[in-house]
Amino acid sequence: MNWYLSVSFGELALKGKNRKTFEDRAVKKIMDSVKDFEIEDFYKDQGKLYIKANKEDFDEMIDHIKKVFGIVYISPVIRVGRSVEEIEKGAIQLIESKNVTEKTSFKVEAKRSDKSFPVKSPELNPKIGGAILKKFGSKMYVDVHNPDIMVYIDVKNHIYIYSDKIKGYGGLPIGSSGRGLLLLSGGIDSPVAGFLLARRGVEISALHFHSYPFTSDRAFEKVHKLAEELSYYTGKITMYSINLLPIQREINEKCRAREMTILSRRFMMRIGEEISKKHEYNALITGESLGQVASQTIESVGVINQVVSMPILRPLIGMDKTEIIEISRDIGTYETSILPFEDCCTVFLPDRPVTKPRLSDILKSEENLDVGKLVEDAINSMEIYEIEVE
Ligand code: ATP
Ligand code: MG
Repeated sequence: MNWYLSVSFGELALKGKNRKTFEDRAVKKIMDSVKDFEIEDFYKDQGKLYIKANKEDFDEMIDHIKKVFGIVYISPVIRVGRSVEEIEKGAIQLIESKNVTEKTSFKVEAKRSDKSFPVKSPELNPKIGGAILKKFGSKMYVDVHNPDIMVYIDVKNHIYIYSDKIKGYGGLPIGSSGRGLLLLSGGIDSPVAGFLLARRGVEISALHFHSYPFTSDRAFEKVHKLAEELSYYTGKITMYSINLLPIQREINEKCRAREMTILSRRFMMRIGEEISKKHEYNALITGESLGQVASQTIESVGVINQVVSMPILRPLIGMDKTEIIEISRDIGTYETSILPFEDCCTVFLPDRPVTKPRLSDILKSEENLDVGKLVEDAINSMEIYEIEVE
């Protein structure tokens, strides 16, 4: 059979001299993602990757390949020899594979990247269109504006004919934009935040805070599962797990109840920064979205930022909940996120948290706490897991 899968890279093309490294990385990830399938051959032809495998496996393979960042689209293609007759045959084979039953319109669009091929695209289009009409005359007709079926012809070292373009997530290959430490709760938002920055090429590790025994083992399993679901896209995730309860208790005892959320959030960032120094992360990542809850006001964001000097990335900051939920469903974390088990933050949650914290007040409250010691103890009790899907 002459069927292949072709994979097109997006922005990679823009990356100048780094392009080859990026592409090689993406190709490696793609081939890793389909390692359980029987692959006959794979190679690059003028910027796209071509994989020869069993056509019956294509749907499943596409599901795997789609999860690799850096890909714009994937197409099942027919590879033919370098002659007009061969292209005609291939085009007919393509239409036959579509099992057209009712009257269907089409358009041929040839692209000749290899200028040594003697027939130019404007001549190729009507030739191939003509062959299709001749073969399927009663069923097929040409519509150049709004065709039901596109027949693309790419003239490269080989010639490829295809119709479907299955969209990938775009973005950049993981690892090409440094390392980020994602503050991962059990909610809807933080996994989406991790996904979005992974798509921009950031290698993701996770930091989770629980309040065991106030929070259950099942809450922990839930976060574990979220990290696993995220790792479909990111590859192996290192997850640091810390019990925040001792810190929450101290705050509860020595500070105003209304400041619980903001104070504990500042501790999370401090701990995140300490871990980052040791394990070399470039940025912290959160799922905060402006105004979504009382603790996510612009004033809180400011007071939270003040406690660390490293960047805190908040990819959801300007998004609506509905948009976030849509992504969460699409990437497959939503169902796990809505499981009812609580993470740490609901345990000491005040009825009316401060919504416009003033830095001076917060600094004053923290004078009642042995901040350095609390951070150190928390890190000393840290557990580390390596999470990866089978
Ligand atoms: P999410 O859906 O991600 O839980 P949220 O809407 O519930 O977000 P908050 O609870 O205010 O919002 O949390 C804001 C962000 O703080 C989270 O997106 C996450 O990055 C971080 N965060 C909150 N709780 C935890 C936790 N237990 N462990 C690690 N990070 C947390
Ligand atoms: Mg939450």
